[in-house]
Amino acid sequence: MSEAEIKLYNPSAAVQAAAHVSGMAAYQALCDEAERDYEGYWARLARELLSWKTPFTKVLNSDHAPFFKWFEDGTLNASYNCLDRNVERGLGDKTAIIFEADGGEVTRATYSELLARTSQIANGLKGLGITKGDRVVIYISMSIDGVAAMQACARIGATHSVVFGGFSAQSLRDRIEDTGAKAVITADFQVRGGKQLALKSIVDEAIALGGCDSVANVVVVKRTGAPISMTAGRDIWMDDLVAGQSTTCEPTWVEAEHPLFLLYTSGSTGKPKGVQHSTGGYLLHAALTTKWTFDLKADDVFWCTADIGWVTGHTYITYGPLALGGTEIVFEGVPTYPDAGRFWKMIQDHKVSIFYTAPTAIRSLIKAAEANDAVHPKSYDLSSLRLLGSVGEPINPAAWEWYHQHIGGGRCPIVDTFWQTETGGHMITPLPGATPLVPGSCTLPFPGIQATVVDETGKEVPWGQGGILVVKKPWPSMIRNIWGDPERFKKSYYPEDFKGQLYLAGDGAIRDAKTGYFTITGRIDDVLNVSGHRMGTMEIESALVSCTELVAEAAVVGRPDDTTGEAICAFVVLKRPLPVGDEAKAIAKQLRDHVGKEIGPIAKPKDIRFGENLPKTRSGKIMRRLLRSIAKGESITQDTSTLENPAILGQLGQNY
Ligand code: ATP
Ligand code: MG
Repeated sequence: MSEAEIKLYNPSAAVQAAAHVSGMAAYQALCDEAERDYEGYWARLARELLSWKTPFTKVLNSDHAPFFKWFEDGTLNASYNCLDRNVERGLGDKTAIIFEADGGEVTRATYSELLARTSQIANGLKGLGITKGDRVVIYISMSIDGVAAMQACARIGATHSVVFGGFSAQSLRDRIEDTGAKAVITADFQVRGGKQLALKSIVDEAIALGGCDSVANVVVVKRTGAPISMTAGRDIWMDDLVAGQSTTCEPTWVEAEHPLFLLYTSGSTGKPKGVQHSTGGYLLHAALTTKWTFDLKADDVFWCTADIGWVTGHTYITYGPLALGGTEIVFEGVPTYPDAGRFWKMIQDHKVSIFYTAPTAIRSLIKAAEANDAVHPKSYDLSSLRLLGSVGEPINPAAWEWYHQHIGGGRCPIVDTFWQTETGGHMITPLPGATPLVPGSCTLPFPGIQATVVDETGKEVPWGQGGILVVKKPWPSMIRNIWGDPERFKKSYYPEDFKGQLYLAGDGAIRDAKTGYFTITGRIDDVLNVSGHRMGTMEIESALVSCTELVAEAAVVGRPDDTTGEAICAFVVLKRPLPVGDEAKAIAKQLRDHVGKEIGPIAKPKDIRFGENLPKTRSGKIMRRLLRSIAKGESITQDTSTLENPAILGQLGQNY
């Protein structure tokens, strides 16, 4: 992009003045503080943001690097920090959660109510013999009880592992076996898009597949009440578990390093890994990023649309906003039911002020809005919004502009937050009252995070040159281990190539030559080399999506090519019905010309394939490893357990 084309969006004076981190000088001062005294910086924040039962005296322990420990001699309880202390501060009657069910029914829970429910569930779990260190798998859809169940585990020191409710029996079985869970908490059914979908019977199936002998009990929340089978001696209704239980439960104080949860990654690049997180360091970053990145204030209504089955739902639903005493939305349904205006209607109804969603949702809602005025955001009152966020994948500049203009009314900053299951919270992100925004860039590291870009040998590359994204110093909320597989942990995140000294994120990045702003260029194995030219897949995808009259979504991968080394293969979803024959050829030519004009002839895709959608993980991410196989003409033999829409694969066979 030429410099003239780069648009900067500065925070307005009003946004800046009101923000927790106000202005770039304040941002820089925090970075400098961390630079001067790294441990002192994190220790100060850990004391300010968290309540400790036993204050820590040690900050970082690197004796067994890369198995780092933070605040190790301190003790605390995550659920105490999220619930009790808000009640003690006088927020007992404040709404913690506004729950909207699939059908539109709204239920609210105050901090006192959420604490009481959590305590009852915690007491019930104790009654089942679950104690500190035991694992509990939670397989449930979005609900107040889903959040309360996670909090209840944290309260008694049990390590939760939430499995997204869209996963199959086999995927659930694998995760139950890997965690060795003593209990599974589920619901009879879940309701999504007007349909009742099984949960409990899938748990039964998963256990029947074998390898789940650790599971002594299955606790079942009643969602719809339709008939299900209950196994005597093993299965118990949540209502019965909590009946007669006290609404108080003394928190179990745990060491800061105690595993708060295990969570499996989305599987975009390979077999999911059981990411192990700590209590103290994780909770610190959850609270701190909610405060600074989302600038959460007492009267905000915060809505993170992620599912609690993903890390985004953990950090920005279950832990971060509650640790700060915020009010948040928990939504059971899907963005397209009863129509594609659902998100906008909910923002209007609940006067949401901070809205955090994923590019995949934005792209599909753009397509719907452009086809139908009734579900266009202009048909709703979105004036309550003051801040928008994006997470999960790079957001193309074209989608960013639309989000900014049509949802944010041109007035709301967008925080494009780069982070991973493994990082626990935001790593590279704008701060809304400080950072000038550039569409498509996640801008600068969160204060204290030492991110940079290196070459294959671990040497830092100059700004303006693409390379591999790494983090130079350990940080409090980092992954502690891959559950049961320390070797894989070391190999995946602290590889020998970098002498075990750098955290490898697995993503490629480039820093702007002038501003040092980061742009994520795609996964490392997605960087293309065409006739010696290195290109990020993201750049080509953004060029395709910038053809706004035609393209809804695009994914680009490389395949081996005899003459150019690698050839570019583009998978494109159009804003019109799937084309065939000459029409498809003509559109493909038009798209190649467009990319040639935007980036240069070298970036013109050799292959273009059309589909009504792209193969995605259950969290809505494009599954590039499958696209690479299709591009090479291979048959698909890989792990597709996290693939959401297998039927799409057939459409992508035709090359234009
Ligand atoms: P797996 O590790 O199993 O392959 P995954 O990496 O998709 O799955 P997550 O931890 O859910 O699992 O996703 C983290 C990844 O998502 C990042 O490494 C990055 O590729 C992408 N990502 C997240 N947020 C952003 C963002 N704001 N900009 C660009 N990429 C992002
Ligand atoms: Mg990953």
